[in-house]
Amino acid sequence: SVRPHTADTAGPAATVDNDPCCDAPLPVLGRDVTVPLVTGGEVTYAALDYAASAPVLQRVWDDVAAYAPYYGSVHRGAGYLSQLSTDLFENSRLTVHEFLDCREGDQVVFTRSTTDSLNLLARALPEGCEVFVFETEHHASLLPWTNARVTYLNAPRTPGEAVRTLESALAGRDPHGPALVCVTGASNVTGELWPVRELAAAAHAHGARIVLDAAQLAPHHRVSVRDLDVDWVAFSGHKLYAPFGSGVLAGRADWLQGAEPYLAGGGASRRVARRTDGGVDVEWHTTAARHEAGSPNVIGAYAIASACRALTEAGFDALVERERHLVAKVLAGLAEVPEVRVLSLFGDDSPSRSAGETPTRVGVISFVVEGWNSSHFAAALSAEYGIGVRDGLFCAHPLVRTLLGSEPQEVGECGAPDAEPGERSGVGGSPADGPAR
Ligand code: PLP
Repeated sequence: SVRPHTADTAGPAATVDNDPCCDAPLPVLGRDVTVPLVTGGEVTYAALDYAASAPVLQRVWDDVAAYAPYYGSVHRGAGYLSQLSTDLFENSRLTVHEFLDCREGDQVVFTRSTTDSLNLLARALPEGCEVFVFETEHHASLLPWTNARVTYLNAPRTPGEAVRTLESALAGRDPHGPALVCVTGASNVTGELWPVRELAAAAHAHGARIVLDAAQLAPHHRVSVRDLDVDWVAFSGHKLYAPFGSGVLAGRADWLQGAEPYLAGGGASRRVARRTDGGVDVEWHTTAARHEAGSPNVIGAYAIASACRALTEAGFDALVERERHLVAKVLAGLAEVPEVRVLSLFGDDSPSRSAGETPTRVGVISFVVEGWNSSHFAAALSAEYGIGVRDGLFCAHPLVRTLLGSEPQEVGECGAPDAEPGERSGVGGSPADGPAR
């Protein structure tokens, strides 16, 4: 719950007290963190920016802590701890394969993040590949395709229009040449769900393949590669309650194995030998290891697998129902504030559909407040109420421009500072020092 300490603090306090649905089925770390308010006193921090980075699930933390004393090098040695770490790493791959309901033969590559995964795939595109991507995508999906001919599709205003737009774009291409469609499962800006299955069917009908950016979808809904019939899926550990620097690219092996390794180095190579002409011959792995050169992030992979197990055990049906309830509650609260406009591309603000019905969005809600600059509003929420929200243009500048219907007053990438370290003001120090005042 969030309740400013001081009685004279203006404005409504967000509260989830006494809500029977709100006993967290999956406890996370950080729920008891208190932060200072400018008005005096302290308040329990309310992190409402999980879409940017979710906290660690208690369960993930426990698993990682239990493994930490046994940490060892992966794929590099016969020592007991090295063997144990190798097993954990490879079993984590199997867990993710199962979590995503991958096809037999699909490969799971551990990466650093969704951005990394999509850049990896961009490097693995076959010669002459065309790429089709909606302009509404997160920059991670919009920008990596620098070595392909890219068709940017206009923002659709309904899920059906998205499918029709893709179909007509694909209809004009040579169906024999390689093509890739990249689409998000759930928007990080509007939370709206995209018609992935229909888009995949359209892509395949025109001889194209499809990669699903599941950065926002995977933490909220079950993602089945088979059911959705997508060729690849990318997601990040830190949005799936496993923030230990890892991500996943999973899917068809052929393009991945037909490509040069993403990184060249140890771990990706099976055999390296000097040639008589003085050069070096390399035989690269044909497994996921081909794209995982260097010592792998075993803790990151293990944490992702732990989060996958925790979400599966909690049950996505139950998580979706709980989220439906919370989203409806937040939207109803926001609707009471006349200055607030909730952003929506598909124009459906009624996610409180009856239980069991397919929801139209995940628990990601963006809004503008008339008369306020978003960064000032977010700073006020933090300073006066201890509520953390994401503000700005959400690494999806074209989409935000479309949603606002105008040029945003704010600029800025994904929060990366323009200043060098040390030149920046803001919260500093280490957690042990307590929050900076
Ligand atoms: N795709 C979507 C829909 C996202 O929301 C994000 C992050 O916000 C990304 C991709 C990129 O994820 P990461 O920053 O973990 O690479």
